[in-house]
Amino acid sequence: MITNLQTSIDYLKGVGPNRADLLRKELGIHTYQDLINLFPNRYLDRTKYYKINTLYQNTAEVQVIGKITSFKEIAQKRGKRLVATFQDETGTMELVWFRGQKWIREALKTNTPYVIFGKANNFGGKYNMAHPDIELLKEHEQNLRSALQPIYPSTEKLSTRGITNRMMTKIMQNLFIETGGKFVETLSKNLLENLKLVPKSEALLNIHFPKDSEALFKAEFRLKFEELFYIQLQLILKNLIHKSKIKGFPFETVGEQFNTFFKNHLPFELTGAQKRVLKEIRADMGSNAQMNRLLQGDVGSGKTIVALMSMLIAIGNGFQACLMAPTAILSVQHYNGLLELCKDLNISLKLLQGSSKASERREIHEMLESGELDILIGTHAVLEDKVKFKNLGLAVIDEQHRFGVKQRSKLWKKNTFPPHVLVMTATPIPRTLAMSVYGDLDISIIDELPPGRKAIKTVHRYDSNRLKVFQFIRAEIKKKRQVYIVYPLIQENAQMDYKDLMDGYESIARDFPAPEFQISIVHGKMKPADKDFEMQRFIKGQTQIMVATTVIEVGVNVPNASVMIIESAERFGLSQLHQLRGRVGRGAEQSYCILMTSHKQSENSKKRIETMVRTNDGFEIAEVDLKLRGPGDIMGTQQSGILNLRIADIIKDSEILKHARLHAKKLLEKDPSLGHEENAVILETYRQMSKYKNIWNYIS
Ligand code: ADP
Ligand code: MG
Repeated sequence: MITNLQTSIDYLKGVGPNRADLLRKELGIHTYQDLINLFPNRYLDRTKYYKINTLYQNTAEVQVIGKITSFKEIAQKRGKRLVATFQDETGTMELVWFRGQKWIREALKTNTPYVIFGKANNFGGKYNMAHPDIELLKEHEQNLRSALQPIYPSTEKLSTRGITNRMMTKIMQNLFIETGGKFVETLSKNLLENLKLVPKSEALLNIHFPKDSEALFKAEFRLKFEELFYIQLQLILKNLIHKSKIKGFPFETVGEQFNTFFKNHLPFELTGAQKRVLKEIRADMGSNAQMNRLLQGDVGSGKTIVALMSMLIAIGNGFQACLMAPTAILSVQHYNGLLELCKDLNISLKLLQGSSKASERREIHEMLESGELDILIGTHAVLEDKVKFKNLGLAVIDEQHRFGVKQRSKLWKKNTFPPHVLVMTATPIPRTLAMSVYGDLDISIIDELPPGRKAIKTVHRYDSNRLKVFQFIRAEIKKKRQVYIVYPLIQENAQMDYKDLMDGYESIARDFPAPEFQISIVHGKMKPADKDFEMQRFIKGQTQIMVATTVIEVGVNVPNASVMIIESAERFGLSQLHQLRGRVGRGAEQSYCILMTSHKQSENSKKRIETMVRTNDGFEIAEVDLKLRGPGDIMGTQQSGILNLRIADIIKDSEILKHARLHAKKLLEKDPSLGHEENAVILETYRQMSKYKNIWNYIS
């Protein structure tokens, strides 16, 4: 008989109403099932005993057998500390207590064998251990529970109310006794056999009470695989359902516009990656399903031309297209760029902005509804209810991290059928993360830069070297290059940041006086028209220096700009630094990125700067970023549910993740509805999982 795991923990021996209440409030544990799925955070290895003369600094926690030979009290700034000399046959060390001295003094005997456990620190050539776990050797020997001792997640409240780790272990033991350690299997026989996974009951036993390291490893592997497998199954199924349910417009041909452009007006040869991605997009849009594709490509990899050619396909099939950008500056730039590229094609393009005049808007609205307008470019303004297309076939969204999912779906509502959607981002998402978070989107990657680009040289300079940096700027400007100088602007700190920016601007204006030097300044407090004016002066080469906050971060393209100076670089995140650096290196000239910092830097910021200096590879940078910040931060909160993993770690377990994805895919290819007898277990588990909204809440 298998116990019903939906039983409330109140009924478990050793719990009772008070503890049950605490467990519910502090750890969200309501049922037997919740408890069995409370996996230990870590394990203490109590299989080995160290000798005092083999201790070394920074060892993880270790245990030593020996005797206390004497106690002494040492006065210190506040109060006193208790120090015991502890000895084994190889030497002596000290045990130190800062609290509870009276009790310890009374409880511990000298010249009696003890086992101590804790972290050994070397202080002036002598080892000590502060507040060790200490146990009589005799008791320790009788007590052999499990050599690998599980440490459960806890909270301050739990430990002050007496639910210690030892208590948790006891409660867990009771759970195993009551259930007989028998749990429903949640993976199919096939998977267990092919992947040599241990059965569920064995995995659960060894995750809580590992027999040895190997058993623990196998238990962890099985449970991690299971967790990732069901997430992947869910993502892939969602994608399949989306494709079968949400019909798109099948674009039957590539059309005349695409062909003419490709044959006669392409300004350069497409890179292999651009061609491959275009094929993927073409195939999507040619099918009956709506395209929902994420296009990733590092800054400067040439996403714009891919966007244009995709829009040409829509137009060639009699549809309209739109391109949305996150900022006014960027939408203007896209508009001008596309106008130039399309000048010999018979195509109409318009730009719609928040600042567009009423008469202009009216014209655009009319042209859109009559179908006269082929391509609409704009900012958020495109999403307004008044903007109605005759037949929107493709929506391209640039730099997706600025647009929320909600806004995207707003676009869909503009048609009876949703248009195909292409989301472009220059923020490379590490493959592992993309797999787990965007598993339900299709992904294309441009992983090749256009030929002839010189790698940007990146250096780190301290503020104290500013004069040298200024000399370098002067030399570059003499060579007719242009320079960006960027200041941080953090919302919480906006007032001070503006002051820094203006101070910086003044000092630059002093060192680079007119008329020899002309300086543009752009920041968020300026009116859009003024911003645009300043930006245009820089784009046209009328100014040599652009002083700005991060408004230029996204997408701005001035190929003649070859130097990017980032002030207070320690305050920027890695992906932002990488984005900013991508503003240079767009022309044929050697480009430079100079990261200015003060001498005060956190370890984390040192690592960021080092990474920037070492590599230009966006994917590598994204991986480091992921490690430094953790996945939740990178993706924002909306997807965090998916990242709320119980046992697997997206970064450390990326190999298992790949495995899990592969097997989920294979399974669904063979059995898309999970109707085969052999997959009944998986179907049932999947159903339970959807019911309880959490993969670890299903076994019952
Ligand atoms: P991003 O991916 O950052 O949006 P862009 O589309 O702005 O990059 O392209 C960056 C620059 O590279 C532009 O000046 C563009 O004209 C140029 N470019 C794009 N593709 C190619 C190519 N295949 N060969 C040469 N230059 C290219
Ligand atoms: Mg771009």
